[in-house]
Formats: sequence, C-alpha cells, structure tokens
Amino acid sequence: MHYEGDIYRPPSEANSILLQVTAGCSHNGCHFCGAYKNKKFRIKDEAVIQEDLHYAAKHFADNDRLFLCDGDALIISQERLVGILDAVKKLLPRVRRIGSYANAKSLARKSPEDLLALRERGLTMIHMGLESGDDETLRSINKWGTAGEIVEQGIKVGEAKIKLFVTVILGLAGPRRSAVHAEKTGAALTRMNPPYVGALSLMPVEGTPLYERLAAGEFQLMNPRQMLEELKIMLEHTELRPGTFYANHASNYLPLRVRLPQDKTSALALIDSALRGEIPLTPEWLRGL
Ligand code: SF4
Repeated sequence: MHYEGDIYRPPSEANSILLQVTAGCSHNGCHFCGAYKNKKFRIKDEAVIQEDLHYAAKHFADNDRLFLCDGDALIISQERLVGILDAVKKLLPRVRRIGSYANAKSLARKSPEDLLALRERGLTMIHMGLESGDDETLRSINKWGTAGEIVEQGIKVGEAKIKLFVTVILGLAGPRRSAVHAEKTGAALTRMNPPYVGALSLMPVEGTPLYERLAAGEFQLMNPRQMLEELKIMLEHTELRPGTFYANHASNYLPLRVRLPQDKTSALALIDSALRGEIPLTPEWLRGL
C-alpha cells in the first residue's frame, strides 16, 4: 500500500483495510490538532488508489471493513468518490462497512442525495469532530464553522442513515469558559443526536498554535478535578435518543461508557464518587492521545 506519512484511524477500525485516498486534511487549521501538520493536503492520484485497491484485493480479500484515510476523504468530488466506492465493491466484494473521517467543511459540500448515494455504496460510518458547541471556543481554536453549522452537517449524515461518531474535547475552553463549553456542547450533541459520542481530554501537542499559547501563558490547562466537573456538566446537558457517550479514551482521567438515556444517572453518580476521591483517576503517565 502506498501510505504517505503517519496514518490515523479510529480505534474501532483496528482491523479495517486502510485505504489512503487523501494526504492530510483540507482544513488543517484547528489549533489543537497536530495530526497532519507536516502534510500538504492533496487528493491522491487515481492510479495509486487503484493500485492499492488491487493490492488489498490480493492480500486482504477476506476483510469486511475498509476505512478511507486521511483527514477528510469526503472532500473528494462526488463523482470520484462514487468511483472509488464502486471500485471497492467490485474488487473487495466482502467489504460490508466503509468508514471515513469527515469534517463539517467537506460535508457541507455534499447534498443529502450525495450522502445517500455514498451510503448505498457502503459508506456506513462517519467520524466528525464537533469539539465544542460553543462558538467562542470554536473561533478560538480556528475550527471550521459555527456550532450550528456543524450540527446541521451531523443531522444531514444521520438523515442519510450513515452512523455518526462525534468527538468533543474536554478542557478545550480552559477553566474560565469551562461551564459554558460543557453546557453548549451537551446542547449541540442533543440537537445533533448522533448514535455515538467520544469525549477526549485536551493534551496539547507540541508544534500546534494551542501549545504555543500555553507556553506563552495565554491558555490554561485544567486539572483532573476541573475536567471531571466539565464532563459532569456536559453529560447532564446531553440527551441522546438513544446513543452511547464514550469517555474511555486514553486521554481521560475517568474511563466511562454511558448508554443514554438509561445509564445517565449512574454515570453522574460515578463522576460524583470520583470527585469525592473514592475512585482512582488515570495517572498522568498513563494518559495518551
Ligand atoms: S478538521 Fe480534523 S484533521 Fe483537520 S485540522 Fe481540524 S481536527 Fe485536524
């Protein structure tokens, strides 16, 4: 396979065929994100993608999952993307589930009919970052779009019957705006109503603008207790009908998997126990991105 640079994929795609169709992210501007900083964005050559598909057909023919890398494969024009998915179907007929990262910017360029056509060709899972439901926080990290615009794209994905995994980031607004970030993020998730939410805790990455703001004293990291309080407020304001709120990422201090609505009360009680010091938190040395 012709992989360029570091390849990222969600943990749930550990066994998937990783087909790199773009290099980098077309936005590549979020201040906390160091994933594709050393890659100039481009859509990979069709011949290279087809070669990789033939290689996968020869070596991974039994695999039933495929993930489109890098940052936002959905920025590819509809015609080309349809062609890639048709080629997957032809060369890898056992593939039943295709997943992709997508940001709201690339989704905004797809019509509901476009998404339905991709769904019919096997695209059944999209991972999208909301990060925060608070516009001031989104502006401060240079995210594309407002919370309303990102929610709109998430709803569109759901209406196309494509499963949506939405990530949000604890600690992203710093202590001063923590409660607002938590409340508005919960409210945005409630409006979007995705089946899956993943909450990560901010860990600044060297070389990113956020890291520089931290070093310059212009941004404050939250301590474990503040992170837990923020998680509690966010969860209190999140209603999924139904859905799963994962806070079990390696960056988090208290691993949680909350099925909503039924597990909310017990999850909030667990956070309260942790706040009282009754449950040990993940030590710093065990945290990671
Ligand atoms: S849209 Fe996603 S991949 Fe691109 S810079 Fe932002 S967080 Fe990173």
